[in-house]
Amino acid sequence: MLSLSVACTDGLQDDAPELSPTWESFRANPPVRWEAFRDTTYREPFAPYRYIVDGDIPLLDEEQLRAHYDAWLEQEFRLSGAGGSELAVRRALNADVIWPAAQRNSLTYCVSNAFGTNKAALVAALGRATAAWTARAAVGFRYVPAQDATCTAANTNVLFSVEPVTATYFASAFFPDAARAQRRLLVTPAAFTTTAGGRDLEGIMQHETGHILGFRHEHIFITCTGNSETTTDARQVTSYDVNSVMHYPQCRPSQTGGYRQSALDELGATMLYGAPRTTECLFNWAQATYPTLFTPAATTAVSGNYVFRYYSGTNAYLGIDVTDQNVYYLPAGGALQSQGPKSALLTAANCN
Ligand SMILES: [Zn+2]
Repeated sequence: MLSLSVACTDGLQDDAPELSPTWESFRANPPVRWEAFRDTTYREPFAPYRYIVDGDIPLLDEEQLRAHYDAWLEQEFRLSGAGGSELAVRRALNADVIWPAAQRNSLTYCVSNAFGTNKAALVAALGRATAAWTARAAVGFRYVPAQDATCTAANTNVLFSVEPVTATYFASAFFPDAARAQRRLLVTPAAFTTTAGGRDLEGIMQHETGHILGFRHEHIFITCTGNSETTTDARQVTSYDVNSVMHYPQCRPSQTGGYRQSALDELGATMLYGAPRTTECLFNWAQATYPTLFTPAATTAVSGNYVFRYYSGTNAYLGIDVTDQNVYYLPAGGALQSQGPKSALLTAANCN
C-alpha cells in the first residue's frame, strides 16, 4: 500500500526525443479525445462546479482536468508498450507531499451542523477513522466542535471543514498541499447508508482521511475498469496491496472487502510519518525498565513486517510485527521470543 501524491509531475514531453514519433501519433489519435473526456467527466452541481475524477478526487477547474487528461494519456501510451519503465524511478526522486512535522499532530477539523440528524454518526465515524491512523503512525487529527456552526471553507480556525453535499459520489477529500479553500471533506447522504463493495461510513472516512494524509489510490497500479487515474505523480511506498484502505473495493478481484487499514498500510504510514506515539512510548518504557537489555537508547526503524529498535550495546532487537500485532524480542545469537500482544504491553507500560 500507500503511495503518495508528489509535488510536481514529470511530463512525457521531457522524453519526447526518445519516444517520438510514436507518442506523437498516439496523441494525434488518442483512445479518448480531450473534448469527450471533459464533457463526460462528472461535475459537482454546486459552486465552484469542480470536476470529480476517479470517484472522489476533485479537480478545481478545466485547467486541472486538462492536466489530468494529459497525464492519463501518457499512462495509456506507456501501457500500450511503447514507453520505458525509467519513469517510475524518476518519480521516486520527487518530493513527497505529506504534512510537515509541526502540523501532523494537529490536523484540526470541524463538522458542519448542516449534517443535521446525520451529524452524530459522522462525528463518531470520523473519530474512529482518525484514531485508526493515529494508532498506525505519528499523526493526530483533532475535532474542534466550537467551529461547527461556521464550518465552511472560509473558516481558518480549523485546517479543514467536513461539509454535506449532494453529488453522485460518497465523499471527496484533498491532499496535503491543497489551499484552505480546497481543504474540504465533502460527504453525501449516500455515505451514511451504503454497503456497496462492503463499504461503511467508518471505512469511507478511513479512506478519505488517508487522502488527507497524502495517500493516493492503491488501484492505480493495476488495470481497473473505468479507471483513468494516473501513476505519473505517485510514488509507491510499499508493494502493491489489494487489501489497502486506499484500494477501491470494486477494483479487487473479490469486488468487496470495504475499507479498513491493512498491515502494509500501517507499515507505509509509519515509514512516511514515523511510528505511532503508543509504539514509541512502549519502546521507551522497555529501555527504561530493562536498561541492561536495551542499550544504548535507540531510534525506531521499519524493515520487513517489523517496526523495531536495534540496540547496538547488546546486539538485540525489540520490535512489533504489524501482521500479528505481537511484540518480539530478539537477543544476540538467540531465537525470536514473542512477548505477547502489543495491546497488553501498552497497558502494562501505561502507554495507551
Ligand atoms: Zn479515494
